[in-house]
Amino acid sequence: MDGKYWNRKIETMPRQQIKEHQLQKLREQVKYCYENSSFYHKKFDSVGLKPQDIQTLEDLTKIPFTVKSDLRDNYPFGMVTVKPTEIVEIHASSGTTGNPIVGAYTRNDMDVWSELMGRSIYTTGGRPQDVIHIAYGYGLFTGGLGFHYGAQKVGAKIIPASGGMTQRQIKLMKDLGATILACTPSFAVYLAETMAQEGVDPRKDLKLKRGMFGAEPWSSKIRERIEQQIGIEAFDVYGLTELCGPGVSIECEQHDGLHIWEDHFIVETIDPDTGEVLADGEEGELVFTTLTKTGLPMLRYRTRDISKITTEQCKCGRTHSRMLRVQGRSDDMLIIRGVNVFPSQIEYAVMCFSELATQYLIVVDRPGALDTFVVKVELCEKAASNPQLDKNALKNEVQKRIHIVTGISADVEIVKPDEIPRTEGKAKRVLDLRKGKM
Ligand SMILES: [Zn+2]
Repeated sequence: MDGKYWNRKIETMPRQQIKEHQLQKLREQVKYCYENSSFYHKKFDSVGLKPQDIQTLEDLTKIPFTVKSDLRDNYPFGMVTVKPTEIVEIHASSGTTGNPIVGAYTRNDMDVWSELMGRSIYTTGGRPQDVIHIAYGYGLFTGGLGFHYGAQKVGAKIIPASGGMTQRQIKLMKDLGATILACTPSFAVYLAETMAQEGVDPRKDLKLKRGMFGAEPWSSKIRERIEQQIGIEAFDVYGLTELCGPGVSIECEQHDGLHIWEDHFIVETIDPDTGEVLADGEEGELVFTTLTKTGLPMLRYRTRDISKITTEQCKCGRTHSRMLRVQGRSDDMLIIRGVNVFPSQIEYAVMCFSELATQYLIVVDRPGALDTFVVKVELCEKAASNPQLDKNALKNEVQKRIHIVTGISADVEIVKPDEIPRTEGKAKRVLDLRKGKM
């Protein structure tokens, strides 16, 4: 720890040096995968590639992509590169169908993950004197324990609240003096709404200063709402089970993209349709290669997340490249009447109206030949009790806004406060009734 940096030497390393470090680590990781994984060995052989063919960072593109179905097909341990006894911890993603995505960690992987989460928390201003309230789910999901290990590294006081029991969480934050809140953005919104209902004024009754939010895409509008309603500075956190969990990248105090910890990962952006590698600044699917993993290394893993990368130096002094906040996961992307629509776009449109609460539900169906596209939005308590409110005018305005953001028309349905069901983990935003009607 050195002033604002967790590790000044690494975080401000000149880019040329980052590249040299990456090349050396990449060659080691590739050789390691080829020698220890029949999965990667076969993959290399199928395109006639040998580890020694990787001579430059550009040679990375010769390696075939790894995709989510590779992990599902090799469930649970088919892609693991060490003896079973060397795996010390297992996590898994919250898949709703089929085999979950399993993360298998060696001692080395746990150390790297904890270090990167410690570095990430420190980058957002977390210090040993902080009290970090972790309301990410504990268990197989990487959110809760990932933050836990990182906070231990920082030396902060940890409140391992996990998900659920919203009222109790607010009481605990109040009584135990939480200064940092870590949870999904949708749970933060839910906490803020519950505080308002319970008459808790976060600025007066709580000591919260910052929030670290991630595990689902969220719009800048929802961020403004969280910041304003809870009175905190919000930071975006990014990661995925396949790479380690949270700790892959983090927003700094400039709030201008998330620094990717490039001493442990190489990032590329590709055209999701053709697989072609895109230039810096072009929007595409993020692809990550791990450089230091020993349990379950990932070579060119396709995340399905859409974003863009910049290597321009950040005002914070860190040299590690930045990714813009993820617009959406291409898995979440809906194709409605032939147009790509991300739930985050709808969220953005909804958040533009102070009369509306933060909950919304997209319902897509195909009763005949054409898709129907309904967006249910909820009035906030204040607007609902305002007799002057012109619901029709509001509905028209919301429809117009959705059309501007997505390019297609939606039917907006305005419902009463609390009519849309809440969830305490990741939010359910889409009801696609077209399945089986294609
Ligand atoms: Zn920065």
